[in-house]
Amino acid sequence: MALIVQKYGGSSVADAEKIASVARRVAESARGHRVVVVVSAMGKTTDGLLALAAAITPTPDPREMDVILSTGEQVTIGLLAMALQSLGHPACSFTGPQVGLVTDAAHTRARIKRITAERIHAALDAGRVVVVAGFQGTTEGGDITTLGRGGSDLTGVALAAALKADVCEIFTDVDGVYTADPNVVPDARKLPRISYDEMLEMAALGAKVLQARSVEFAKKHNVPVHVRSTFKPDAGTLVTREDHSMEDVVVTGVTHDRGQAKVSILRVPDRPGIASRVFGGLGAQNIVVDMIVQNISRDGLTDISFTLPRADRTRAESVLAALAREVGAEGVTADDRVAKISIVGVGMRSHAGVAARMFETLSGEGINIQMISTSEIAVSCVVEDKYAELAVRALHDVFALGAERGA
Ligand code: ADP
Ligand code: ASP
Ligand code: MG
Repeated sequence: MALIVQKYGGSSVADAEKIASVARRVAESARGHRVVVVVSAMGKTTDGLLALAAAITPTPDPREMDVILSTGEQVTIGLLAMALQSLGHPACSFTGPQVGLVTDAAHTRARIKRITAERIHAALDAGRVVVVAGFQGTTEGGDITTLGRGGSDLTGVALAAALKADVCEIFTDVDGVYTADPNVVPDARKLPRISYDEMLEMAALGAKVLQARSVEFAKKHNVPVHVRSTFKPDAGTLVTREDHSMEDVVVTGVTHDRGQAKVSILRVPDRPGIASRVFGGLGAQNIVVDMIVQNISRDGLTDISFTLPRADRTRAESVLAALAREVGAEGVTADDRVAKISIVGVGMRSHAGVAARMFETLSGEGINIQMISTSEIAVSCVVEDKYAELAVRALHDVFALGAERGA
């Protein structure tokens, strides 16, 4: 009998009716297999909990934030276990701490250290379906932690690795990983397979269908991940090791990330040690920056611009304002109206001119490129936010992603 981990996202368990239908699907799988189910909070519950905390204070204590955020998933596990029981299927629910999912103490973005999973084994041996709360764990000291937004994907993959499951199935509101967000590009095409590296880049660059850290974990532990629809029976996308045929395709997907902001520190003295002061200061506040551009120096002064998650913008601005005074810079500006557009594909390693084609396409649409960054298998451009969808569609067209793979 195969062991399967199934993860159902928030929209798949948004109300009682949907939970009952998930229970029927789980019960069907449990007829032939041992099944562990990981669930998210119902619908937009997590957003609601964040808003509640924000109504109390603009600077919530991360430890207390985790106490609040972890409640969402706990509701779903109880309801799903009950729904399974009412179908006559033995089932029991566990929270993250109950299954021994131990993390570090980085509240709201904790990293998994180990999973004991003893109680899961015992429940499976007793013939039960095990329902586990996604997104949460415990520190060594017994404090509740959460794994970052989208973290139930990581719980699913990490449990699949710990239990040596045959597959981790990610059930969601789309039926697989597409060449671009299907809600933005109508002719986006479902990919039957995608390599871990491409999926990791796409996730990190804005394709929220899988959490980036879950893909990193899957690659490291070689967990086959199958992204598929909660509402349809069809096969979805298999996230797997790279093979030679994948290199033939230059661009596999286009992504956009509208959750970023651009911050600049203006007319900074151009001398050794300034960049390390600026980014060291931000790092000390746990602010992770992404793309960095430094202008050519004129009169011994230069501008440094970078992108960061929009949620960290206000914090970054106050850290930088103080730094700007210390190092004698003229000031700090910030812009939320930016989006990062990226193309991703392992084939870029062996094909020249891909970036140039991207720039040409954007300029053909009259879209100004504010920043550029490249990796071995991706090129990203920061553009004005209002052009995000136009840019994605134009690039999707130019790289013929709506056509058959390999075209
Ligand atoms: P869940 O609640 O199940 O975790 P998410 O909302 O986190 O679901 O992820 C699914 C969403 O990801 C889809 O509704 C889709 O809009 C978005 N998405 C973005 N890029 C892609 C892509 N390349 N392929 C499929 N879905 C994508
Ligand atoms: N409920 C959490 C979130 O909305 C975790 C998840 O759904 O994966 O981010
Ligand atoms: Mg998700």
